[in-house]
Amino acid sequence: MKDVETRLFIAGRYVEAAKSARFADIEPATESELAEVSSASADDVNRAAVAAREAADHGPWPRMSAEARANILGRFADGIEKRARELGMLEARDVGKPVAECVNHDVSRAARNIRFFAAVAQTWTHEATQSDAKFLGRDLKLVNLTERPPVGVGAIIIPWNSPLMLGTWNLGPCLAAGNSCVLKPSEMAPLTSIALGEIANEAGIPPGVLNIVPGLGEAGAALASHPNVDAIAFTGGAATGRRVMAACAESLKRVTLELGGKSPNLVFADANLKQTAAGVARSIYRSQGQSCVAGSRLIVESRVASDFLELLKKEISRLKIGDPLQEGTEYGPLISAAHRDRVDSFVTEAVAGGAKLLAGGKAPITPATGFYYLPTLLDEVDPNFRAVSEEIFGPVLTVERFDDEGQAITSANATRYGLAAYVWTSKVDRALRVAERIKTGMVWVNSFFLRDLRTPFGGAKMSGLGRQGGRFSMEFWTEPKLVCIAYGEEEHDG
Ligand code: NDP
Repeated sequence: MKDVETRLFIAGRYVEAAKSARFADIEPATESELAEVSSASADDVNRAAVAAREAADHGPWPRMSAEARANILGRFADGIEKRARELGMLEARDVGKPVAECVNHDVSRAARNIRFFAAVAQTWTHEATQSDAKFLGRDLKLVNLTERPPVGVGAIIIPWNSPLMLGTWNLGPCLAAGNSCVLKPSEMAPLTSIALGEIANEAGIPPGVLNIVPGLGEAGAALASHPNVDAIAFTGGAATGRRVMAACAESLKRVTLELGGKSPNLVFADANLKQTAAGVARSIYRSQGQSCVAGSRLIVESRVASDFLELLKKEISRLKIGDPLQEGTEYGPLISAAHRDRVDSFVTEAVAGGAKLLAGGKAPITPATGFYYLPTLLDEVDPNFRAVSEEIFGPVLTVERFDDEGQAITSANATRYGLAAYVWTSKVDRALRVAERIKTGMVWVNSFFLRDLRTPFGGAKMSGLGRQGGRFSMEFWTEPKLVCIAYGEEEHDG
């Protein structure tokens, strides 16, 4: 692919990796190489971390007012929006997501993330309290300032499923609070993250404040353990999350982890079943199930189960599967051949164990090229199947049934994950009761993934640590600091 930047971005310049190492970035819809991307080694990560430290310790960024930073970040957001089509196409090619979703949702959300946190940072003001004290025999008054300086250098490690949206979701608060950072995109889909470097320069973000190090194999670990890094925001799988946290323990870095999920869709008989079927289908098949909040377990009230499954099958048959670059496409390929094989292994194993395949379970005949896997519906599953207990991160919905509310809640909670849950019911008291007892970080009632950016986003149990959004992100990216000023009565000499 010509005219696309593929190098590392360090201290405001695009540079080759020190050993000129490169990796192939494969386009999921064509199975061919989209770009050869510079692969950061531990030395390159070190260069980026040194640049970020320099910007944090001696550069203008942390010393500017939040308003001045917000003006620059506003231009950064404008730059993202100005390139909406270009970035959306690039994301669609790199990730395999439908272009309409990339342009209309992900790119505009990326700009919104930046603008939103630039605004929040301006309200994230110092607090002052006053108190009395006695010191060395004098009565004193204290003015206690709680300041909110930036933490310093942040490392942001993101996965491949929504690089623009997840990158800016972390960059927004990190930069708005006055930190500098090193962004590590996934080797599977690094291109839109790399493009942010040029947009940052055009906006006037000072060199070294944003550094971008795509890499394969050693960049992530080198970054997580780098002594210049003060805080890490990691989004990815639970196994890697544990390794990141272990690296943080060494030097007591602060860490926030946004990990995987196995989120239940609880469908009660009193729900509007037609709308619910559309909602459930969206929750699992959007982005081909490659979403941390995918509603991958359907837990449906027995007396409406067969009607509901018929409605769901209709929703599946309506999905427009095809080339992600075609405007009408709703469902594209998975990220890689290895991932498609992994998804298929869960399904094959479940079917061998007695599960009933109601839809999908294989690659489509057309498109013949691309890592496609049909939207899959698996009934009659055993809760012990890996397909029910482990995160697949693909388009597979398993079906369980319940007869009463208590049983529904027990099934919903029977997982080590705790990211999201979806409750579909027309009864408000039931919605509140069930939401209270479900052990997840987020519960959506009669909806899927609607976001007010001020609210906490994150998971319980093995789905993560910490929350992001509004003040939750600002708390993470700032280091509250007390400045206590004592003053007393005027002293009269003699
Ligand atoms: P991985 O867990 O495989 O993370 C891969 C990334 O981590 C790469 O960039 C890799 O870089 C880096 N890495 C590997 N080892 C380390 C280490 N020891 N220290 C620091 N970084 C390291 O996740 P995927 O990218 O495959 O993403 C899929 C997962 O992400 C799913 O489980 C999904 O649920 C989760 N996710 C969670 C979201 C949420 O908000 N909760 C949102 C989206 C996805 P390198 O190879 O250079 O080391």
